[in-house]
Parts: sequence; structure tokens; C-alpha cells
Amino acid sequence: MTHQHRPWGYSNSQDGNLPDWQLHEETLAVRAGLARSGFGETGEAMYLTSGYTYDSAEQAVHSFTDEVDHFVYSRFANPTVSMFEERLAAIEGAQYCVATGSGMSAMFASIACLVESGDRIVAAASMFSSCYVVLSEILPKWGIKVEFVKGNDKKVWEKALSEKTKVVFIETPSNPMLEIVDLKMVSDLAHNVGATVIVDNVMASPILQKPLQHGADVVMYSATKHIDGQGRVLGGAILGSFDYIQGYLNPFIRHTGPTLSAFNAWVLVKSLETLAMRVNRMNESAQAVAEFLAESPKIKSVNYPGLKSHKGFEIAQRQMSGGGTTLSFEVEGGATELFKVMDALKVIDISNNLGDSKSLITHPASTTHRRLDLDTRESMGITDSLARLSVGLEHPTDLIKDLQQALR
Ligand SMILES: *Cc1c(COP(=O)(O)O)cnc(C)c1O
Repeated sequence: MTHQHRPWGYSNSQDGNLPDWQLHEETLAVRAGLARSGFGETGEAMYLTSGYTYDSAEQAVHSFTDEVDHFVYSRFANPTVSMFEERLAAIEGAQYCVATGSGMSAMFASIACLVESGDRIVAAASMFSSCYVVLSEILPKWGIKVEFVKGNDKKVWEKALSEKTKVVFIETPSNPMLEIVDLKMVSDLAHNVGATVIVDNVMASPILQKPLQHGADVVMYSATKHIDGQGRVLGGAILGSFDYIQGYLNPFIRHTGPTLSAFNAWVLVKSLETLAMRVNRMNESAQAVAEFLAESPKIKSVNYPGLKSHKGFEIAQRQMSGGGTTLSFEVEGGATELFKVMDALKVIDISNNLGDSKSLITHPASTTHRRLDLDTRESMGITDSLARLSVGLEHPTDLIKDLQQALR
């Protein structure tokens, strides 16, 4: 299994005591990264400390030069944050993980640590709107060229990746259209022109998709979504190889400081224990809800990678172990009709979060994707009659009944 030696600060993880056979994801989710103090606590400890003390002035010197394993400052590393990082790395099958304060700080840092003025980025156009703002407004201001491509068109990728490229950024499935990008195909093309492939794996979670196994180099998360999955804290994470994290990410992140708090890390490390159970259950329910909606005469279209009618169905079958927990659909009759349906729901909440234990519905055109201009929005397929539904842990029959009565 992976063992994460902290580049700054140290790993006092008890991974060394774990058996040497390949442990299952569920076992790693409970056991990996566990670092018990001398008190032998069963629950992971929350280390709310910004600094650390040294036995001698000399130990402080050696701690800073990395000759001894010792935490030095919580902007660099913290025991509770390290537990979360090591556990997530073990589940993902990545060499290293660095946690951040939000998904957006993870997305930004994962790219910013690699690029400089004059570099070129190619990105699949269909993505979370804040990620789009970073790529279309913030990075170009610093002289970085960004080209957006249609993520599910191989010819377009071949053309875009025929010249030197620094970073390829992909969100698959995409939010809210659930478009699927072929990770293997794009990674192969990207590597031919020397690009690092970064995948926003928020929608699938590490339980349903492991991009590193399909050729990607870096994976990033908003831990706010499935990883917490209970609507409590914000968090993010970046996972990749020793060379990427040690060579690029840590020198950047150490000094720019998008640190995850120990309290949030403690919430998240406990959330990882139930991640597989929650995501698998939500995935099964989402499949049932998508099948129900696809049959309903009041529904114009359903986007869900687990439906055979979905354009990316075959690729999703190859690279994911389920269609996901989120779907989007269009109602007949436009935004007015859709708002009536949303307002009539009795179980499902109106909210723009996703991956939560509670089922949540949102109208992307007027909320999460409001900031995009109309042309961009429409080119992404985000019409006025589109709703995004994140399926939670309620019984699927209750969710279907709720939709049924609201559609009536
Ligand atoms: C929510 C989300 C993000 C941003 O994460 P925050 O934790 O809200 O900063 C990035 N990408 C995707 C796909 C998301 O859904």
C-alpha cells in the first residue's frame, strides 16, 4: 500500500502495523493514516495547534532542514490533516495527497504550481463555473493561454493536443451536464506533447472513478462534496506522484497557504470511513431515479452516465464503477414549469450543493452557472429548463414518489 512520507513535517502513521496484503478500500478507509497518540484513543485525535515545540535548539534546526521528522508549523503540516491526507491517498492509490481549505483552492493550486507566463492549457469546456472563471479570466490575466475544447469529441482533442501544452484540465463527469471525457484517450494525447493531466474528480468521487489508473497525473477534489457528504465543512485535496507534489505543488502551496484547518480535517477523516458505503448507495439510488425520469412523459431529457441513452455510456462503463450520484434533466415547458416542480417537492431540498446525504435539486442557469454568459452556458447545454439533482441517502422509493407527485 502507499505510505506517505511527509515532505515537511513527519508521518507518525501506523500504516507500518497494517498487514502486507493489498487491503480493500473499505479497510483502508478506516485504518490508513491512523496516527494514535500515546493515549491510545480509538477515535482520531484533533490537533488544534498552529505550532510545535522542540526539545532543543538543535532539534529545531534539524526540523527545518528536514533531517528529522518533526512538525514545524500547521501551514505546512498538522497531524490531523496528515491523517486525512494519508487516508485519502490510500483510497485513491496515489503516492501523495495534499489537503487544502476548499475545492477551488485545490483546483487553483494544482494548476498554478505548474504554469508560467506564455504556457498553454487545454481544458474540457464543460465544467464547474468557478473552475471556468479561473481558466477563462484569472490565469489569462497572467499571460497563460487557455483553450477550451468539447470534451467528448476525440477529433477536437487530437487537434488541440498537436502542439506543446503544459496542462490538460478535465472534469468528468462534468457538472451539471454529466458529460464524459475519455481519460485514457486524452491522457495519451496529452503525454505526447508533454502535458500534465489534471482531473477534477469531484462528481465521481474516488469510489466510482480512479483517474490515475486511466493515465491521468493529478487528481483534485472538493472534499466539501461526497467526502464530507453531510453538509458540514469545506475542504479540498490534490493527489499525485512524489515528483509532482515534492517538485511543484509543495513549494507553491507552502508559501501561498490554502491550508485545511485541523478541525475540518478531523471531520473529513471520519467522513472517509463511510465514503464507500454512502457513495455506492447514492449511486444505486441515482440510477433508479434516472430510470424513472427517463420514462416520465413530463421530462424532455435526462443526462445520466448510467443510462444507455447517454452519449458517454460506454466510456463511463470502462472508467467508472457506476453512473454517479448526480443527474440532470430538462422538463417540458421551460423554467416556469421547472420552478413549479421544484417548489412542489416535499423531500428533496432546493440547494446548490451536491454529494450530500440529503437529496438536493438546483437550477444551474440561475445559480451555480449564472456567472457564465448566455452563449457559453448554452454551448455547455445548460438551458433554462435544466435541473441538476444530487441524489442522497433517502430511500429511493421516497425520492421517486416525491418527484412523481411534484411532476403531477
Ligand atoms: C464544488 C466543486 C468545486 C469547488 O469546490 P469548493 O469546495 O466549493 O471550493 C470544484 N469542482 C467541482 C466539480 C465542484 O462540484
